[in-house]
Parts: sequence; C-alpha cells; structure tokens
Amino acid sequence: MRGRFEDFGVIVTGGARGIGEATARRFAAEGAGVLIADVDQEGAELTAASIRAAGGKAEACGCDVADRTSVDAAVARAVEAFGTLDVLVNNAYRCGEHKPDFADEDDDEWRLDLDVTLIGAVRCTRAALPHLAAAPGRRGAVVNIGSVNGISYFGNHSYSAAKAGLMSLTRTLAVHAAPSGVRVNLVAPGTIRTPAWEGKEAVLAAAAPLYPLGRIGEPADIAGAVTFLASSDAAWITGVTLPVDGGILLSN
Ligand code: NDP
Repeated sequence: MRGRFEDFGVIVTGGARGIGEATARRFAAEGAGVLIADVDQEGAELTAASIRAAGGKAEACGCDVADRTSVDAAVARAVEAFGTLDVLVNNAYRCGEHKPDFADEDDDEWRLDLDVTLIGAVRCTRAALPHLAAAPGRRGAVVNIGSVNGISYFGNHSYSAAKAGLMSLTRTLAVHAAPSGVRVNLVAPGTIRTPAWEGKEAVLAAAAPLYPLGRIGEPADIAGAVTFLASSDAAWITGVTLPVDGGILLSN
C-alpha cells in the first residue's frame, strides 16, 4: 500500500526534537521526503540519520526561522532534495524567560518571541508558498503549530500573543492561498511531553489530572493531527484551528 505522502516534499521547522521530530517521523513513515530545518543543526542531522536508518527519506539543515536568508536556503534545499515542496509545518518557536510581573517584561524579549514564533512562520510561508502553489494536484498545505495558550489563559503574555497571532495568520493566509489550492490550518496542542519540559516532571504530573482525558499529550498525538490536516482527507478544510488538548479548553 502506498503511503499518504508518497512523493511529497515536506519541511518541518524545529524538527530535531519533540513535536517536530515526531511529525517528521510520521511524514517519513508515510512516504514523504522530509527536510528537518532546525537551529540545532547537529540535532537535525541526528534525527534525519535516524529516519534514514529506519528506511525513510530525510535531509537536515541548520535553519534559524528568525533569519530570512537561512529560511530561503532551507526552502531551496528541500526543493532540490525532493523535487517538490508540498507541505510546510511551522513548528519552531521561542518562549523567553517569563517574568512573574508583567511590569518587568522588557520589549526585547517580546520582540524575540514574536520574531521567532510569529514572524518566523511568516518568513517560512512566504518562501515556501510559490512552491506549495506549484505542488501537483493542488495538494500544497501549511500546518502551523499554535498552542492552547493562543486561545485561553495559561500564562506567559508574549508566547500567548505570538500563538494567537499565528491563528489570525492562519485565517488570512488560508484566504490568500486558496486560489492556488494551498490550505493553511493550525493545530493547537495542550501540554505535550517533549524535551521542552525536561526537569519539570512535577509540573507535568500536576497537569495530568487537570486534563479531562486524564493525561498530558505525547508528540505522536500532535503528529497524527498535523498529518491529517496535510492529507487529502482534509482537502476541504482550510483556515481552522484544531485544538489537540485532551479536552483542557473545555475546563479552562
Ligand atoms: P522543543 O523545545 O522540544 O523543540 C523545539 C525545536 O525547535 C528545538 O530543536 C529547537 O532548537 C528548535 N528551534 C528553536 N528556535 C528555533 C529557530 N529560531 N529556528 C529553527 N528551529 C528552532 O519544542 P516542543 O516540541 O515542545 O514544541 C514544538 C511546538 O509545539 C512549538 O511551536 C510549541 O510552541 C508547541 N507547543 C508545545 C507544547 C508542549 O507542551 N510541548 C504545548 C503547546 C504548544 P534548540 O533546542 O536549539 O532551541
């Protein structure tokens, strides 16, 4: 049986670890060639090598989504490696040091969070869009990774504002890109066990019972939703925010 993404070219930003890594692995397991574009070049290379060792197609490149030249190079690299670019997953983010008091937050931290998390997705989408629009069978898709923080109150002003901005960007780009058949959607995860939570086991343990489904999420929970939204099963879905959150938004 052919995989859903046979002959697809996919870019996952921040794909070296965590949710991005699980998503890259899932696309590769279903036949795609995946470019892991991560500021951690060594991590990206290790993940790509591990996907290849499992029989998948993967390449790695050092890429900082805050740098336009670096983003343009990553997109060119994916097109060169796979001959087509069909899916972009905007997953890289920044969540700076959170100050307990709003009055102590400084502009530079805000700028950095917005520059990576929100404008990073703008840069990547701008560079990828002409290629996504040229994808065979109008199958081009962008999947942004947001957060329940963009929807309800879970703390951290700058991160939450950036994620809310991504939801708006998802809607406006969905309309902008629709004539070329490119769909733009967003997955909003709840708490997911990734290296971002390293050393914070107690926080994760305390969070689990707050979730109506009784556990926090795993990266594979998000990879499943991302690949669904990128697939032909979602061919008539664009501009949506899909919470994948164990029901936490129902009780928050
Ligand atoms: P991780 O911190 O585990 O992994 C993020 C990866 O992105 C790292 O490899 C990191 O590299 C890389 N990265 C950071 N900055 C950049 C950049 N400027 N350009 C390219 N790559 C970069 O994150 P998660 O897997 O936990 O999160 C992935 C996504 O899911 C994010 O968008 C996050 O906001 C979202 N999310 C996560 C939740 C969770 O509970 N884990 C909950 C809700 C949303 P390095 O390690 O070198 O910084």
